[in-house]
Amino acid sequence: MFDDPQSPAWTPLLEAAWKARAHAHAPYSHFQVGAALLTASGHIVAGCNVENAAYPVTLCAERGALSAAVAAGLRPDGLVAAVVVTDVAALTPPCGACRQALAEFAEALPVLLANRNSRELHRLEDLLPHSFTGRNFS
Ligand SMILES: [Zn+2]
Repeated sequence: MFDDPQSPAWTPLLEAAWKARAHAHAPYSHFQVGAALLTASGHIVAGCNVENAAYPVTLCAERGALSAAVAAGLRPDGLVAAVVVTDVAALTPPCGACRQALAEFAEALPVLLANRNSRELHRLEDLLPHSFTGRNFS
């Protein structure tokens, strides 16, 4: 279902991500990003980037969605799929920090990158090989 970037299963995630993107707070970069996560319990949780005049405080859409999902009860191995949408020609993958944050919950997470014209499907483990996880503590 989530191994085909054209699958209709992505549609509700894409719609949620685009809707969240419209609320992005990006007055400095004007680079609006939307993200949506599907949890194993069937919930779709969206996020958008939230910039700040103190640039390092800026929060990415993916981690915003992840925080909302955790607040709603998400636990490790509870993520099914993720979508990241932008309105620029180059598809936008999660940044390094977001890859690491998502890997905590699903290392093989399917991640669909999309803009208005194209889609590209990746596995998080390919975007972040050899991720640092809780296993590294043992
Ligand atoms: Zn990020």
